[in-house]
Amino acid sequence: MLTEANRLGHPVIPIFILKNPTDSWSPGGATRWWLHQSLKQLQSTYQQLGAPLVLQKGDPVTIVSNLAEQHQAAGVFYDKCFEPDALQEEAQLAALLGKKRIPITAFRTNYLFGPNDVLNNAGDPYQVFTPYWKKSLQLPPPAQPVVAPKQIQSVSTPIESLMLEDLNLDPQMSWSETFFEYWQPGEYGAQDTLTHFLENGLNGYLSERDKPAVEGVSTLSPYLHFGEISPRQVWYVVKAWLKKDSSRQKPADGFLRQLIWREFATQMLVHRPDTVNTPLKEEFNAFPWEPEQSYSPTLKAWQQGRTGYPIVDAGMRQLWATGWMHNRVRMIVASFLVKDLFIPWQEGAKWFWDTLLDADLANNTFGWQWTAGCGADAAPYFRVFNPILQGEKFDPNGDYVKRWVPELAYLNKKWIHKPWEAPPVIREEAEVKAGKTYPNRIVDHHEARTRALASYQEIRAQKA
Ligand SMILES: Cc1cc2nc3c(=O)[nH]c(=O)nc-3n(C[C@H](O)[C@H](O)[C@H](O)COP(=O)(O)OP(=O)(O)OC[C@H]3O[C@@H](n4cnc5c(N)ncnc54)[C@H](O)[C@@H]3O)c2cc1C
Repeated sequence: MLTEANRLGHPVIPIFILKNPTDSWSPGGATRWWLHQSLKQLQSTYQQLGAPLVLQKGDPVTIVSNLAEQHQAAGVFYDKCFEPDALQEEAQLAALLGKKRIPITAFRTNYLFGPNDVLNNAGDPYQVFTPYWKKSLQLPPPAQPVVAPKQIQSVSTPIESLMLEDLNLDPQMSWSETFFEYWQPGEYGAQDTLTHFLENGLNGYLSERDKPAVEGVSTLSPYLHFGEISPRQVWYVVKAWLKKDSSRQKPADGFLRQLIWREFATQMLVHRPDTVNTPLKEEFNAFPWEPEQSYSPTLKAWQQGRTGYPIVDAGMRQLWATGWMHNRVRMIVASFLVKDLFIPWQEGAKWFWDTLLDADLANNTFGWQWTAGCGADAAPYFRVFNPILQGEKFDPNGDYVKRWVPELAYLNKKWIHKPWEAPPVIREEAEVKAGKTYPNRIVDHHEARTRALASYQEIRAQKA
């Protein structure tokens, strides 16, 4: 986008506009922290390029159209965002600028495909992932990334801009302080993260990606969400990595397949924007959730990582401390909230929205709907994750649990995922006092599972 704007040979006004919060899907606390750090870096990048970044707050349609008119702009360039509000705003902006005869050009650098590029033979969007993925592989490869300009020309009169602090993005609370230990927001952090992953993680991706205790995944999600690295860059860097050694084919394909999940989730958001708040499968509107007034204590226990199920608690504590959670554990904790605690998936989606640094409307909505069983999923049955078996399979030595739930650190691997079953003498040796040092289980998983399956049969019967 910048390269293209610069190519016209006119001065460029780079601008970032923070919208006023509109609904519960306005940026959450964690992403605001990330945005603050990223803008700080972006300001310095633009300063070096020669045109300072203008910061504004308010309605992007009015701000951009006024600025463009004031400066008799030769064109307006922007990168597309596929959230429902943003799509409406871009249509409004295009109409306004059209009346003023100012050309507007949209780019789609943060995605590999457009929302109407990967359709089935009838021209409709796919409802399940695998055929979407296969079809995407038949399309021409994504466009090559372009080289960023080394210099841009600024306008001669300075443009009014807010200070970064005026945007009030940084939460200013101790919660976000630990994020610095784990993250380096901005494009340099993104490049370092990708390089680290290529050197240390990608080769073992297929065997390690489900193990939360090891560095088996890329952790690129916040960078991708904020456009600090584009999926096209990732795509071509991985292809170049593969070219060096053909034995790398399987891990490279496996990883690029995950990038396509992101595309699929975005296509779903564009074609079914209602799924942000309502289930894709309508029958789930009748699911017998616990009433709101009775679930607030269990919701709180889940949020704080005090459910008594070690893998669930480890995940929720990792989320709070780092602003990120491993994908396997996201599925486990989400299933637990919905199918063990009978709390609507929307509550979980909101908590993730506020606490995830990679909170992304398409991926978050998709992940929650998929785990709740009401979204785009090919499984012909109602999947209920067993937190004990999942823990034993994917964290067999309990290293992940021990890291995030230190009160269980001395428990051996036989009991680490089910401390309530450990003989009293073992618990005593491990200094685990049920209900005191570590919470008792807030629900019996086997009973909850039976109830969830029965409820599912009920709503299916109602539908039929
Ligand atoms: C309940 C739930 C909520 C989720 N919420 C979000 C969210 O708000 N933001 C978000 O980016 N992801 C979300 N995900 C998807 C996934 O968990 C994360 O993308 C992944 O854990 C990020 O880690 P990574 O970058 O190391 O992934 P890697 O395994 O290294 O994958 C590379 C990239 O592929 C994409 N990707 C991987 N898995 C998925 C997936 N299942 N769906 C969509 N894209 C995927 C991501 O952009 C990721 O960065 C959610 C999943 C679940 C089950």
